[in-house]
Amino acid sequence: MTLSTDFSAAISSTITVDQRIQTLAEALAKVHGPVNIRRESGGVHLMVACPLCLAQYGRRELRSKHLQINVDKMLGLGDHQMRFLRQDNGKKKGYAQCMKEHGPMSWDQIMGWPTLEERGVDNIIPMVVNSASGDRYLIPDDRGNMIPDHPGTVTPLTSLPYDHPALCYLRYRDYDPVLLYQQFRASWCTKEAPEGEEYRRWYRKHGDGWKSTPQGRIVFYSDVAGIQACWQARYLEMPIEGELRLWHPYRQQWEPRPAFWAPKEGPVKYVTATGALRNSQLCGFDNAVLHIDALQESYPTCVLTEGPLDAARFPERGMAVLGKYLSPLQAQLIATRFRRVILAFDTDEAGREAAEHAKNELSLHAIKTLNFFRAEEYGDTKTDVGMLTYQVCRERIKQLIEEFESI
Ligand SMILES: [Zn+2]
Repeated sequence: MTLSTDFSAAISSTITVDQRIQTLAEALAKVHGPVNIRRESGGVHLMVACPLCLAQYGRRELRSKHLQINVDKMLGLGDHQMRFLRQDNGKKKGYAQCMKEHGPMSWDQIMGWPTLEERGVDNIIPMVVNSASGDRYLIPDDRGNMIPDHPGTVTPLTSLPYDHPALCYLRYRDYDPVLLYQQFRASWCTKEAPEGEEYRRWYRKHGDGWKSTPQGRIVFYSDVAGIQACWQARYLEMPIEGELRLWHPYRQQWEPRPAFWAPKEGPVKYVTATGALRNSQLCGFDNAVLHIDALQESYPTCVLTEGPLDAARFPERGMAVLGKYLSPLQAQLIATRFRRVILAFDTDEAGREAAEHAKNELSLHAIKTLNFFRAEEYGDTKTDVGMLTYQVCRERIKQLIEEFESI
């Protein structure tokens, strides 16, 4: 599959590490699962699941990797070379430790542990990921695919109480949370994933405690062939008591935009997963495939939009590009399952250009396209499908599917 090929390409952009370090990392991976190699000022570090944390907190430790081994220090390489030579007692202490709560461990102790398999922890492909270069930070999922890191702790929209701010917002915009969950596994992010160098992720600060964080936002996942290829987290903004207010991710209340923000300043509307390969994912792909498989159409048809909430107007066939332009990889992905595409981009000039671009990309795969909005009806007035009702969208799609027969 194109997607997994791309992911492996993303991780193969490695820094050159000393062969001894590479060998240690591989040996470590055989016992403890996925290893990250990271170059830091204090030396090259190997990050791996702490076996005690794994026993105590479960499989998520395979991702958190609390056991940190400073291999430069351990082997007396790099900056530690001189220090090592000077040390006449030959003691090398504190090169490996659990950063959570289990403290220092020796290499012998670490390598003496039973393998993951012997401990009954399955499904993880041992691998060494060199995350010290490039701007992509990927983690292995349960089956060993490299995916962008998770937004943090999330709760499905379908499990939220009626008066939850996310559900108030969706009611205000006339969206059905159950359909959103089916289409995108749409969820509420209650706690952001940590930021920092090791995650190659920082949340932009906007003053007065505001950040562009996934926390306090609705997360839309892009699943492609069961792989979580990307996610985007949208903020909540709606009129309350006569003024537009934003949901504050930390103070957890609706607040007006601070006066010190210039008109276009403040948190970004969508926060995207760090390291996501936006060009080779489509938000809603697996759901659309599921539906057209059930329908057994002779010409499987999908609807393409810019963002997830536009795609959500088409709970069965909608897929979001997550950006303006359909990439060649996205067109290729569409061509694996669909023969006809309805383009439901905005009606402004940018939207029309995006639709034209998508049409050309898709024509390379002999895919027929139709525009959801007719230029003669809308001209230059800006409209988007998000402003329409489910009913209107459904009827229009029925029409367009018939229209395909005549072109
Ligand atoms: Zn530990």
